[in-house]
Amino acid sequence: MKEELFEVRDIDRKVYREELASFLPDKMIDIHTHVWLKQYRKKEKQEQKRTVTWPSLVAEDNPLEDLQRTYELMFPGKQVLPLIFSSLTREDDWEALNGYISQCTVKHGVPSLMYAFPEWSGEELFSRVTEGHHLGIKVYLNLSPAYLPRKEIRIFDFIPHHQLKVLNQHKMILMLHIPRDGRLGDPVNIAQMLEIEEKYPDLRVIYAHIGRAYCPEDFGDAFELLKHTKHLTFDFSATTQDEAMYRALDMVGPQRFLFGSDLPILRMRMRRICEDGRYINIVPKGMYGDVSGDPNMRETDGSDAESLTFFMYEELRAFRRAAERLGLSRDDVEAICYKNGRKLIADTAEGLYGASSKISLI
Ligand SMILES: [Zn+2]
Repeated sequence: MKEELFEVRDIDRKVYREELASFLPDKMIDIHTHVWLKQYRKKEKQEQKRTVTWPSLVAEDNPLEDLQRTYELMFPGKQVLPLIFSSLTREDDWEALNGYISQCTVKHGVPSLMYAFPEWSGEELFSRVTEGHHLGIKVYLNLSPAYLPRKEIRIFDFIPHHQLKVLNQHKMILMLHIPRDGRLGDPVNIAQMLEIEEKYPDLRVIYAHIGRAYCPEDFGDAFELLKHTKHLTFDFSATTQDEAMYRALDMVGPQRFLFGSDLPILRMRMRRICEDGRYINIVPKGMYGDVSGDPNMRETDGSDAESLTFFMYEELRAFRRAAERLGLSRDDVEAICYKNGRKLIADTAEGLYGASSKISLI
């Protein structure tokens, strides 16, 4: 018998049954997921350290079947459709990694984004996206020019204007994980977010993880400075920061707020705290190997460890706290967890592919 992908414990079933099953709609769109096969990844990463290391401890890879099995295990009785994209570096076989994502769309009807490199011309970007039957692109700071020190990377270093123009012209999706230690509150980030808002009004931009606002120290004045925006959207993937969810929702309203997970890392068994402005994942002792070198990880044991459930449930518990505090209706929750994502995918696919769209929506 094949071993199950991961263990579902009594504590998980209890949290789902008592706190989430009836709060969540029966159909959901997960707007932020990573899918890849490990055979296309470079064996030993020699990449300069620009990003955190703990996510690699949760899953070595995440084929589409594993992602779909994850939803069956975590959301019994619900139907979940993901928007998928890869996770890659320049050292990986990135053509094959993007190619696998494209196959998932063409063969299985799953909507997807392509991982894009900033040096591509506008024409190259457009032909790669449409040949792969994607809806837009995912970009990441690790693909910025190598000479840039991590702390100095700006948004336009990895999603340049000539590409933004093409995305805007074709009303494509851009999944954007913003850089810099100041995160959402960083003035350079905010200036560039406002510039994107003004210059590219048809771009369907999603700021991942509410702009990485993982702790209250990460917001700065962002919710003041961005309040007159009309287009940008946020996903609340990989965060349990309900204050950020509350503030973001209060600012943009339920139509521009989207459920996303960041699977497979949301399979992690954990609880997240903030200490001196830094997030720390509290995990069961020994479960994720040696975490002593990672300042974002800490172990616990005994009954505290036994009380830990999935990061996915912790994220949705935080969303529920924010939703209740704001007095959101069932329709609002359904919009955030399903209808907004469905409309985004359907409208983008219609504009790019019309009747020849290969996507099967739920
Ligand atoms: Zn992600």
